[in-house]
Amino acid sequence: MTTSPALVWFRRDLRVADQPTFLAAGEGTPALALFVLDPHLIKPAGEARLWFLYGCLRDLDQSLGGRLLVVEGDPVDVVPRVARAIGAGTVHIAADFGPYGQDRDRAVERALAEEDRELVRTGSPYAVAPGRVRSGDGGRYRVFTPFSKVWADHGWRAPADTGAGSLAWIDPATVGVSATAVPTPPDVDATLPEPGERAARRRWREFVRDHLHEYADGRDRPDQPGTSRMSVYLKYGCVHPRTLLADLAAGTSAGARSYRNELAWRDFYADVLDQRPDSARRNYDRAFDALVTDSGPDADRLFAAWQEGRTGFPVVDAGMRQLLAEGWMHNRVRMITASFLVKDLHLPWWWGARHFMRLLVDGDLASNQHGWQWVAGTGTDAAPFFRVFNPVLQGERFDPDGDYVRTYVRELAGVTGKAVHKPWTLPDGPPAGYPSPVVDHKHERAVALDRYQAVQEARRRKP
Ligand code: FAD
Repeated sequence: MTTSPALVWFRRDLRVADQPTFLAAGEGTPALALFVLDPHLIKPAGEARLWFLYGCLRDLDQSLGGRLLVVEGDPVDVVPRVARAIGAGTVHIAADFGPYGQDRDRAVERALAEEDRELVRTGSPYAVAPGRVRSGDGGRYRVFTPFSKVWADHGWRAPADTGAGSLAWIDPATVGVSATAVPTPPDVDATLPEPGERAARRRWREFVRDHLHEYADGRDRPDQPGTSRMSVYLKYGCVHPRTLLADLAAGTSAGARSYRNELAWRDFYADVLDQRPDSARRNYDRAFDALVTDSGPDADRLFAAWQEGRTGFPVVDAGMRQLLAEGWMHNRVRMITASFLVKDLHLPWWWGARHFMRLLVDGDLASNQHGWQWVAGTGTDAAPFFRVFNPVLQGERFDPDGDYVRTYVRELAGVTGKAVHKPWTLPDGPPAGYPSPVVDHKHERAVALDRYQAVQEARRRKP
């Protein structure tokens, strides 16, 4: 009996280890590996993400012995065409839970079904797939803490035992489909992490060896290399969170517990986006549609100062310049810069979210939009609206010696100690070339509180 070949369509799972789709295709089966360069996703991806994605595709192609087929086009046309070319009965994917991905997969599924082929979803990019964590009465959660408890109780499978040799990869040159070469990464200005599955594994091992034990406290310090920087590898599926969780299971340290909790946040936001796909673009809490935000030339000028890291608030500027230089920003500083945009500059959170998505190498719709909404107070489980980060105090607390600021804000390199967080108080004012604060934080905090209060009052008055 000859086995009909399978098509493995890679998307956000650019790896060969821990790949349940390979097992679903049937070990040893002849299979074609496909990646579709979908203009709908490629166009809005910033340079950093494209650079990283293309690097991952090269790495995957190498792992598969040069047998990755890359085709440009709409997956709804491409996937059935390639499946037809090899006579595949099944097309294997890891399920996508983003709004676009779900619609696309349903359309591909329908197109395949017309030719009696099946789209088989196995696994997802999450430890626990969206929709699985449910309360006793079957409802979904909108608050993180109860979600995370049920998430931990639900648990996850052990990593799948797979590798490049799990399937018999078909040579793409023999299938008669016009393909694109694995794309060359574009030139980028930013210094980005090494792409690919091997790099992900290496980075994870280093983190576990050097930093996991101090992660519970170290994760809040942007001046120290205390976080894992795994977000980008998780985003592209160079490693699955299940693999990380399996390693963490051995440890009961505060660091391991804290890391597990952060992975639960990632799953939580994916679940929330799945519950409410509209929350990618709009306030999750629609009462905040009434929040007054600024616009016009002054707002545009302040937005540009924020984007360029020229607000005169050193920790904000350091964060925004780290984003430009590395396509990444430390989580604490993401919160500080986001709070500054929303509560000090009174700009809509989605202006900031869009800028982050353009530059972040780990830019992820669920984590980014909901991270922003958490800070803006418009999301699920949001920070209480009266919590307004003070950028100076945050800097002094989480970058106590000023090393983080000095690394990214060259104009302040000569300012020592804590003074770096308040350069306008120096005897001669801020060093040449560094701006004075663009706003008065105390005043803007009061303005923000008034505006948020107005929303709360309107909500209370509503019958
Ligand atoms: P670590 O501290 O080592 O955390 C380990 C992993 O846990 C991360 O890789 C990530 O997958 C997950 N994680 C940690 N914190 C969060 C969180 N708050 N929400 C969801 N997952 C989390 N993360 C993204 O992956 N993509 C984004 O586009 C993104 N945008 C954000 C925007 C804002 C305004 C905020 C406040 C947070 C955002 N985050 C985003 C979450 C977080 O900042 C990053 O995941 C983290 O900084 C990545 O660095 P790391 O891998 O060293 O983190």
